[in-house]
Amino acid sequence: MRDMVAYLNRDCLYMPSKQSSEKYTANMDISRVIKPWKLNPQRHLVFVNATIVDPAEGKLILNATLRISEGKIIQIVTDGSSTATDDLPGENVIDLSGKYLCPGLIDCHVHVAVVPGEADLRAYKDMSESVSLLRQPYVLKSMLDRGFTSIRDCGGASLAIKEAVEDGVTPGPRLFIAGHALSQTGGHGDLRGPHDTQLCCVGSISGISRIVDGPAECYRYAREELRRGADFIKIMGGGGVASPTDRIEHVQFSDEEIRAIVTVARNAGTYVTSHSYTPLAIQQAIKLGVRGIEHGNLIDLETANMMAEMDVFLTPTLITHVMSKEMNFLPADGAAKNEEVLEKGLGAMKMAVDAGVTVCFGTDLLGPMHFAQSKEFSVRSSVLNPLQILRSATVNAARLLMQEHRLGQIHEGFVADLLILKENPLEDITILDRADEHILAVIKDGRVATSRWDKVKVDV
Ligand SMILES: [Zn+2]
Repeated sequence: MRDMVAYLNRDCLYMPSKQSSEKYTANMDISRVIKPWKLNPQRHLVFVNATIVDPAEGKLILNATLRISEGKIIQIVTDGSSTATDDLPGENVIDLSGKYLCPGLIDCHVHVAVVPGEADLRAYKDMSESVSLLRQPYVLKSMLDRGFTSIRDCGGASLAIKEAVEDGVTPGPRLFIAGHALSQTGGHGDLRGPHDTQLCCVGSISGISRIVDGPAECYRYAREELRRGADFIKIMGGGGVASPTDRIEHVQFSDEEIRAIVTVARNAGTYVTSHSYTPLAIQQAIKLGVRGIEHGNLIDLETANMMAEMDVFLTPTLITHVMSKEMNFLPADGAAKNEEVLEKGLGAMKMAVDAGVTVCFGTDLLGPMHFAQSKEFSVRSSVLNPLQILRSATVNAARLLMQEHRLGQIHEGFVADLLILKENPLEDITILDRADEHILAVIKDGRVATSRWDKVKVDV
């Protein structure tokens, strides 16, 4: 053995010397060679004369100086004294006189995998995963430009796209994903029509969902979604608008099935949220330990009170019903179901807020409708006040994501997700609908991701 080593050291002609092996990488940061898309180190930024919007307390904090560094808000001074800024170049100190600093927005119900490009829902049944994946960066970047710094994907987004955003390969909001939503055969996640005779095999994927039946499959595929990076589990707990073979009033999954999924999620330190419109489906889910309800358009007072008592979150998604109708996105049977839930949705949301339910902001837009994401603010403003709506997209949403210790507010130590606004959103929430006009800059993780103001330089 020793002879062999000696031979290699002395005689092997093919062993390159240390010097020549570094001919092309000398003085290079090897981590940037491996990940050449890695962003440059962040600039430290200081905002002076800022008016901070505090959605938790429902008030404005005037004359604040705020310093951000390495992705975090490291200092907020509000007593009039200023923080030393001598160490920073002038362009990193930004005077926000007359402007508002608002926490980054959180949309708690999106489907980034159902990308634009097709005119109606039917076309999406056959869209390949690769076509979707290549279009997703477009969807993500436009959400960020609208001020959404975090999103919760309720079915379809993969761990790969979530990591691509985290890693800096593609700009976008921070993702919290469900993986595939779990649906029963013939449930809201089953895209097969009634004349489709093909049986789907155990756990098979159907668009943004996965078909599972019986507690054993529920255990197995809830675990499978968590193994593949799901942050929470989404179930189709009742009938839906876009599904071809169920009715809105159907209750889906048995108690045993939901119990199995809730057990898997709890054991992994996370939670289950359920697509449910009716009191019957909602009550079944929450009695079995489901922590979030999506849509909830047909809720009644008894159910709203029960949700408030049990601290269950509600994420209405009204704009998708408005846009589906306006853009003729659904086939005829879906359009009729859509009409029913659209009519009741606004009243249901108001009833839930009044009953004390923690209501979050959601949109559920599919395909060509993504552009309307911020219009949910206007839709809600016909029944809720600006503070209630801003809370739904910040503090309430952060609690639902189990991120209330770091997202949704402007506090020292929190992630620096910030919007610079021209107007006060607590006076007029609909300014958030008109991002091009009113959102001057979007800062995510301490970097300026979008700027529409020459005083703030993009830092990505
Ligand atoms: Zn959805």
